[in-house]
Amino acid sequence: MYKRLIILSTIILAALCGLAWMGYHSIGIRAQGLQGARLGEFAAVAEQVRQDVTRRLDEFMQAEQSRPYTDYQYYFVPENVAPGRQQMPVLRSPLAGRMEQGLAYGNFQIEPDGSVITPNDNVDQRQDLTESDNELYAEAISNRKNIEINLLPALSGDTPGSLKMNFYSGNSIAPPKEPDQFAKEVAQKGKSSQSYPIESLQSKGQKTQIIRQRREVFEQNVLSNEAAQSQQQTQELAAQTQQADGLYEQQAASPDESQTETVQVRIEPFFPVVVPGGDHASQQAESIFGGQVFLLRHVQIEDRHLLQGFQLNEKELVEQIEDSASRFVRKGMSFELSPGADARDNGNVAYAAILNFGFGDLVLNLKEIDPGWIGKEIRNLRIWYFSIIAIVLLAVTLGLVSLWRNATAQIRLAQKKDDFISAVSHELRTPLTSIRMYSEMLEKNWVKSQDKAVEYYGNMRQESERLSRLIENVLDFSRIQKGRKKYAFNAGDINKCVANVVEMMRPYAVQKGFSILTEPAPIEQAIFDADAVTQIIVNLLDNAIKYAADAEDKTITVRTKTDGKFTVIEVEDHGPGVPHRQRNKIFEQFYRLAAESTRETTGTGLGLALVKKFAEAHNGFVEIIGAKPTGAIFRVALTTRI
Ligand code: ADP
Repeated sequence: MYKRLIILSTIILAALCGLAWMGYHSIGIRAQGLQGARLGEFAAVAEQVRQDVTRRLDEFMQAEQSRPYTDYQYYFVPENVAPGRQQMPVLRSPLAGRMEQGLAYGNFQIEPDGSVITPNDNVDQRQDLTESDNELYAEAISNRKNIEINLLPALSGDTPGSLKMNFYSGNSIAPPKEPDQFAKEVAQKGKSSQSYPIESLQSKGQKTQIIRQRREVFEQNVLSNEAAQSQQQTQELAAQTQQADGLYEQQAASPDESQTETVQVRIEPFFPVVVPGGDHASQQAESIFGGQVFLLRHVQIEDRHLLQGFQLNEKELVEQIEDSASRFVRKGMSFELSPGADARDNGNVAYAAILNFGFGDLVLNLKEIDPGWIGKEIRNLRIWYFSIIAIVLLAVTLGLVSLWRNATAQIRLAQKKDDFISAVSHELRTPLTSIRMYSEMLEKNWVKSQDKAVEYYGNMRQESERLSRLIENVLDFSRIQKGRKKYAFNAGDINKCVANVVEMMRPYAVQKGFSILTEPAPIEQAIFDADAVTQIIVNLLDNAIKYAADAEDKTITVRTKTDGKFTVIEVEDHGPGVPHRQRNKIFEQFYRLAAESTRETTGTGLGLALVKKFAEAHNGFVEIIGAKPTGAIFRVALTTRI
């Protein structure tokens, strides 16, 4: 039984430990999973930003690509003007009047002779200059200077072969950066990073456009812009512009169908040129790409080569990327945009998305607003987990302990029952043997003396009384156990009941060398079960005679008392008594002391258990106190009020 319990407890505790270990381990895995999932979220955000930025830039480049080459001039002649007109209408460029066009800043055209013209060139030649005109003019001048000083020398050093434009000698175009350079640097620092190619601003994917234009319109375009460059004709042209607006609308309504001679206009895709050094013209700040980024396209009309383009408006580009990023970042994330070169300085970046434009990088640093949130979540999870494990462990331990105690109690009870059966058998056999012996002697007339015969008859009676007491005890115990014990509470004289029992037991006590004293207290009528009270006194007297057999003082006192609430019966002897520690236990069923006096005496361990039950049936109790100088006083208190 114990062995099985030990094996069971060991298995349960080992299983729990295994479970706890597995749980702990899986929390670790969960932490890794969370980190991985979060990294995936960062990568997803970066990819969304890349797609959004690419889409915006593609749209912008498409619009720029399809922009008529004449938009880059100060004036232009509309394509659909009626052929053969003496005086062509001349319109202002739609790019005139402002420097910024979305991502483009300061559109310009480099003429075949290397001179630079822009749609805002002639602002200063107007008579009615406003303040904003002045500002625009100042900006236009500075833009043109920037192109002349920084771009043109760079172009003359490394111009694409198709341009054939070797105007100046000077700096060369900045070589494109190694695409994954910063990704590598960041990765070396142990941070997560990836390069996200955004090729929209490069010529890849764009097509060369070939369109045809009426020769006279083309020629007039060239003329009108040459004229625009000449100060004397400005006023005149301005006046013509106003007339032309009206004419143009009329002509546009009735397009001429006759065939005219045309020229071929070939417009190549934009390509980026990074010019090292120099402040960024649009914001007077250092460029984020390590140089000014120009987007240029080559326009060829017969043997006339033009270079058109604009400077990349970096401020607008950054704003657009920031706008995309703020739309896509997820809960708990923040972002910061930095030039590629700054990536190495960011210590608290969770994910660096390197936006690779081909000619330079911009790093979108994605950060955790609360970098320790995964740690906190895991800590909380661990606290919960260990609390639950501790509770389960406690519950299981308590369960096992109570199982253990129950088992122990069961084992003890089984042991006691065994002892009880052997005790009862023994108790039955002893008086029966005596009775058989005496009856045989009397039957065979071996007893000659009359006195002896009387004594033997007396012995037989006592032994049979002992038998009845024993059987009575066993039967009462069995009835109580089954809940079938019936009590008959009747009014009566309890002192008389006590005296009857004492008188019944006296011969037995005297035979064993005891004298019984009675000290009855004046008690009025009481209500009690006479059989139960008889059993109580019989058992207590029987015990006193049994266990005080070796006492010097063989007096047993039976007294009654009353304290108003209880009627008390006390049986006092001067035997060995019961040690303090065992005074409660002796009232348990089958319990017998290990004392020598007990070992030498037969008994079932039922007597005091029955006394207790009977006392409780009278709403009372039983207790044992020490007698003086030695011995035990068993005090039974009964509620016997009428
Ligand atoms: P038993 O059949 O053993 O007498 P009881 O329930 O009557 O069973 O008593 C339980 C135990 O209490 C006894 O075995 C004995 O050890 C102890 N006991 C009872 N009465 C006395 C007494 N008067 N003096 C000393 N020990 C006693």
